[in-house]
Amino acid sequence: MFDRGTRRDFLSQAGSLAAAGAIAAGLPEPRATAATSKGPHDFVIVEGHRDMWEISGRTRLPGADNHLPISHHLAPRLIQGGITVCIAPAGGGDSVEERDGSEEMLDGNLRVLDTYLTDIEQSKGLTSVIRAKADLPSGPVKGKVLFFFDMEGTGGIQTNLAEPVFPEERSLALVRQFFRLGVRGMQLTHNMRNQVGDGRGIDVKGNRLTPFGVAVVKEMNRLGMMVGVSHLCTNGLLHAAEISKTPLVSTHQNLVRYSKSRPQVEITEEEAKVIAMTGGIVGIRYHSSTITPYKALAEEVEYLCNLIGPEHVGIGWLGHDKANPGAHEIEGHTTRTYSGVEAQSIFEHYDNFIKLLSERGLTDEQIGMVLGGNYLRVWRQILPDV
Ligand SMILES: [Zn+2]
Repeated sequence: MFDRGTRRDFLSQAGSLAAAGAIAAGLPEPRATAATSKGPHDFVIVEGHRDMWEISGRTRLPGADNHLPISHHLAPRLIQGGITVCIAPAGGGDSVEERDGSEEMLDGNLRVLDTYLTDIEQSKGLTSVIRAKADLPSGPVKGKVLFFFDMEGTGGIQTNLAEPVFPEERSLALVRQFFRLGVRGMQLTHNMRNQVGDGRGIDVKGNRLTPFGVAVVKEMNRLGMMVGVSHLCTNGLLHAAEISKTPLVSTHQNLVRYSKSRPQVEITEEEAKVIAMTGGIVGIRYHSSTITPYKALAEEVEYLCNLIGPEHVGIGWLGHDKANPGAHEIEGHTTRTYSGVEAQSIFEHYDNFIKLLSERGLTDEQIGMVLGGNYLRVWRQILPDV
């Protein structure tokens, strides 16, 4: 089932990866049944991209518990599900909904970030924020979930054109301010075009990054931020790979052959290879357009492992769970009946998916890389020490 020739051909070209000692052995053959005896709490799970729909939805409901939705609802479910780190786009995207209703990009980003920080500060130790290598877990964490702030696009750091005497460096002020607030990753674009580059929603091939975009990537490298390329157009991604000194990460996209319907969140095989060549990660996400989505997702993980190596694959998202069954739906506040993944807990999602990956032939070590180990490797490389 594994196309070892294709994998070998790619790896033979991937000299930089080999030099970095980053290539793992090829996957073993698939099995009829899962060989692993491990479950979600045995791994460091990094959930690559949890949109803020539930948080913004709950804060519009009555009840003090809903006004601190992370402390009272989300964190307990993530902890029960075995999630060690949740990568949260805590700065909003380029739709008004993703900025908690604010029309202004910067204003919305700051409001969303405050929603997360205020809730986390009041969580009585249930949650904290990863800001430095010293904050990274060395293994599965019990009774706590960590957040990693990753802005969905750079709408909040746009700048006015420099005046003749305006120091160019000042145009990066907002990058540094978000860093000071704890943001450790930024996708260079969301779906649309901004002053950094072109999103796939406006032009899949698009243009190279702008001069400002180049300066943003360099400043992110200097500060120790994860350079995100989900939604970024092809030429922008290639340009980012040329200039970034740290790995590129796509937290939540699917290969074109497994997606087919949403160009904004698709990635080509060539783009996935480029991300791997930088030492980065391609994170796949649940999609409901297939009859057996988890089997299709596990197949996609296997395909990606063969294409770019299991050390470059991650999980972005395994779908809504029973407490948050749809983007704008919350259990008890929607009349729709749920089934399948939407009727399961986060723990069930990951427990099922771990078994499917094992059936596909991944070893426990490789499953650990895909579930979260790869993110820890990248963060150990790029984050500030303390
Ligand atoms: Zn997205």
